[in-house]
Amino acid sequence: MGFNMDTAVAGNRPTSSALANSGKRRRPSQSEAEAAVRTLIEWAGEDPDREGLKGTPERVVRAYEEFFAGYNGDPVALLGATFEETAAYDEMIVLRDIRLESDCEHHIVPILGKAHIGYLPSGRVVGISKLARLVEVFAKRMQIQETLTSQIADTIQEVLKPRGVGVVIEASHLCMMMRGVEKQNSKTVTSCLLGLFRKDERTRAEFLQLVRD
Ligand SMILES: [Zn+2]
Repeated sequence: MGFNMDTAVAGNRPTSSALANSGKRRRPSQSEAEAAVRTLIEWAGEDPDREGLKGTPERVVRAYEEFFAGYNGDPVALLGATFEETAAYDEMIVLRDIRLESDCEHHIVPILGKAHIGYLPSGRVVGISKLARLVEVFAKRMQIQETLTSQIADTIQEVLKPRGVGVVIEASHLCMMMRGVEKQNSKTVTSCLLGLFRKDERTRAEFLQLVRD
């Protein structure tokens, strides 16, 4: 599988205010959410009062709290509170194979894969676990892979102000896998390259080499 640079994300990034808009709506109560799940169960042709399904609306609502826990996280604050100032390290830092679990915003069906992150620090570095946590905060939302990729890169750029940053995500979309046989084993690869990762051929090549198998 090669890198399809056509999918590189250059523009059309959602602003943080677009994300914040969802916070202005009244949040339905837990019982309203459970009633909605019950309706979907009936719509699917099932009897929601059947023994095996009795606790399902409550379980689904709990599961949603986990799947979409990212809406409670503030990615900028997460990195901003934890980076360290150091002039001692200016080599490329790469974190490979960060586990990624998200849900597509078109079908609310899992996107499963991994993320790779690299950056060239300019005085600010952050612990590896924080980068993994950053991925999680954006992934645990309703997403499209291109947006997820650029949100991670943009946040690192904004907070750590590195000389460059690169994010590559390779993932399988269950909504595609469940519908088309020919797509069952396909992976979607997206990348977002900023600063020297975009402008400098050697930096870009080094990063892409490091994240390739
Ligand atoms: Zn989908």
